[in-house]
Amino acid sequence: MNETSLRRVRPGLAFGFDLASLARRRGRSWDLTVVEAAQVTPRMRSVSFTGADLAELDWRPGQDLVLSLPQADGGVARRHYTIRDFNPAALRLDIDFVLHGDAPGGRWALGAQPGQTIGAEGPRGRTRITEDADWRLFLGDETALPAIFAMAEALPAGARARALIEVDGPQDVQPLACAADVEVEWLFRRAPAGPNDRLLMALAALAPDPMGAHAYVLGETSNVRAQRHHLLGLGFGRDQITAEGYWRPGRVGGHDHV
Ligand SMILES: Cc1cc2nc3c(=O)[nH]c(=O)nc-3n(C[C@H](O)[C@H](O)[C@H](O)COP(=O)(O)OP(=O)(O)OC[C@H]3O[C@@H](n4cnc5c(N)ncnc54)[C@H](O)[C@@H]3O)c2cc1C
Repeated sequence: MNETSLRRVRPGLAFGFDLASLARRRGRSWDLTVVEAAQVTPRMRSVSFTGADLAELDWRPGQDLVLSLPQADGGVARRHYTIRDFNPAALRLDIDFVLHGDAPGGRWALGAQPGQTIGAEGPRGRTRITEDADWRLFLGDETALPAIFAMAEALPAGARARALIEVDGPQDVQPLACAADVEVEWLFRRAPAGPNDRLLMALAALAPDPMGAHAYVLGETSNVRAQRHHLLGLGFGRDQITAEGYWRPGRVGGHDHV
């Protein structure tokens, strides 16, 4: 098919963009109805959803949805949240919300009631298990915990991984049950979340061997940038690192390419 015939079937190209690929990037839209909500830890609230067509959801562990969260003032906040778990047979999807203060995401999660329905788009994102690694390194803060645990749980028996996870304190620790051999180290910040070098220092002490490795670097954007830079210095190739800025002080919603 040449450019002219492409334009006939995909009119967006005539305006310098491709409507079909834009729709693909945004993903499909879903109506998610709350089934239940519960605290996982004092600062993490799990909300379980169902949806009539959820059996058609094509999800890779680690990926997220963009949720449209109604607010008390009548507005709607669009925020990225990772699919913590998905059971297609039960049409059930779980999302874990960090309660970091008075902000739309946590506010909605705290008020979520069975029967409420929200909109979601996706799944999206390159954060997913790559098949071609001998071992994996997961680095992240509490916002990355759902992605790290979802990916760790998806690894088969015999796979090896190491996770360094930064949280505020022991009250934020969660047990990980998975088939793979995953060693989790918890780093206690004991301070408000934000730019800091705790994980970077732990990474420097670990000095991981890049041979056969794939690293996932997720969480606060400036921390992610520093950790990715350090991994590149250790000899990790760019294609051996999946990095994404999940949040940063002052930014509202969205995500940062790193
Ligand atoms: C791909 C992807 C997956 C994500 N998955 C999850 C997930 O599974 N669970 C989850 O809880 N978050 C996740 N996040 C992060 C989440 O989208 C952001 O934290 C988002 O800003 C939360 O929206 P909010 O309404 O709470 O705060 P916003 O209204 O967006 O921000 C208000 C203020 O709070 C600050 N802020 C935002 N997040 C935090 C935080 N964690 N700690 C301290 N201050 C913060 C902002 O910088 C801003 O100053 C993910 C982000 C991305 C990009």
